[in-house]
Amino acid sequence: MISLVGKAALVTGGGRGIGREISLKLARAGADVGVCDIDLATAQQAAGEIEALGRKALAVKADVSSADDVAAMFESFLQAFNRIDILVNNAGITRDGLIVRMKDEDWDRVININLKSAFLCCREAGRPMMKARGGKIINIASVVGLMGNAGQVNYSASKAGLIGLTKTLAKEFASRGIMVNAVAPGYIQTPMTDKLTDEQKQKLLAYIPLQRLGQPEDVAHAVLFLASGLADYITGQVLTVDGGLVM
Ligand code: NAD
Repeated sequence: MISLVGKAALVTGGGRGIGREISLKLARAGADVGVCDIDLATAQQAAGEIEALGRKALAVKADVSSADDVAAMFESFLQAFNRIDILVNNAGITRDGLIVRMKDEDWDRVININLKSAFLCCREAGRPMMKARGGKIINIASVVGLMGNAGQVNYSASKAGLIGLTKTLAKEFASRGIMVNAVAPGYIQTPMTDKLTDEQKQKLLAYIPLQRLGQPEDVAHAVLFLASGLADYITGQVLTVDGGLVM
């Protein structure tokens, strides 16, 4: 049984989808959780559910691509919890299109929200975690960061970049007892993948040995493991949660 009692976790993009499931899973294991989202109402709803589990919760509105928002978010998080043991960089978006038609703003927005955000949040979390000589950082990447995907040059580059960031920070932080890992989900049923047509989903299933899309809980289980003491000798790794899509 995994226990995170006494730990404080911050989850970005925690208002819905995979991030919401991760926030609740960490809280059920005993952690107090800060839920960050650009959509405050969803963050507040998730925080309410966490409080109903008997845990401390904080809802924070922040655009994780903004250095000012991220600094303010850490200030209120550390004021409320006085420590940070677990950081989950989960917030992410897609703006798909073939490269020849992709606008600069679609490239910039995806890179900034999916990748720069992790740089900003890890920089803020680094100091208190180094002082405490411990911590767990989990970055939510994607299988397309490993294998590429036509129509997602911005998204796959952001997720591949997140994997490089993960491995570098694992090396920078190892001597301070801070583990940095990535989880690379395959196709998970959330509002993000609801955009896919039934035909697209059927085509995908042909490549997934387990013959189903994943659920947010499948990803949350991997995050819970990496956030726990069971993963104290694991750093710089990419754990795919994809039904066998990439192997
Ligand atoms: P989602 O769209 O359902 O949820 C994303 C959350 O992030 C939302 O609550 C949204 O409001 C928040 N968000 C968006 N921009 C933000 C910003 N600038 N600042 C703060 N919060 C912001 O997506 P999801 O499917 O739950 O995906 C979560 C993560 O998992 C993303 O990083 C995504 O790339 C990754 N992922 C998802 C899948 C999938 O199949 N769903 C597969 C691989 C990776």
